[in-house]
Amino acid sequence: MFENYSAGDYIEAWCTKCRLELGHTIVAMVDNAPRRVKCNTCNSEHNFRAKPSGKKRTKGTPSIKKTKSRNRGYRELISRLSDSDPSNAKKYSIEGNFEKDEIIYHPTFGLGIVSSVVQADKVEILFRDGPRLLVQNRQSLAV
Ligand SMILES: [Zn+2]
Repeated sequence: MFENYSAGDYIEAWCTKCRLELGHTIVAMVDNAPRRVKCNTCNSEHNFRAKPSGKKRTKGTPSIKKTKSRNRGYRELISRLSDSDPSNAKKYSIEGNFEKDEIIYHPTFGLGIVSSVVQADKVEILFRDGPRLLVQNRQSLAV
């Protein structure tokens, strides 16, 4: 596998310091395999490791945990939020009626996007600092 490599060559390896798969320079070869490598990014010298220990990782496909899919959805919403025109945002109030994907302006939290209508009187709105559960369709008590 490493027959064509020799000390001084460029090799992709796991950097124990950067915690990333990065370009390294081979420092020492043992039994036709890289033993010591030097990270081209942080210049640290360490034992050669092709992949992070204890983790299976397919090359080219970054591992995304299934539990993060929700966050990924949030990221999409946030990017949609960034692309939207703030002047079109609907002003939040407890009496309001909001729909999924609507851009909301909240006086305290700022711009947000409705990520889901939880109940008839409850919406989850994603703000830049995270999702918040807010009420909707409430009659104002201040009458
Ligand atoms: Zn490094």
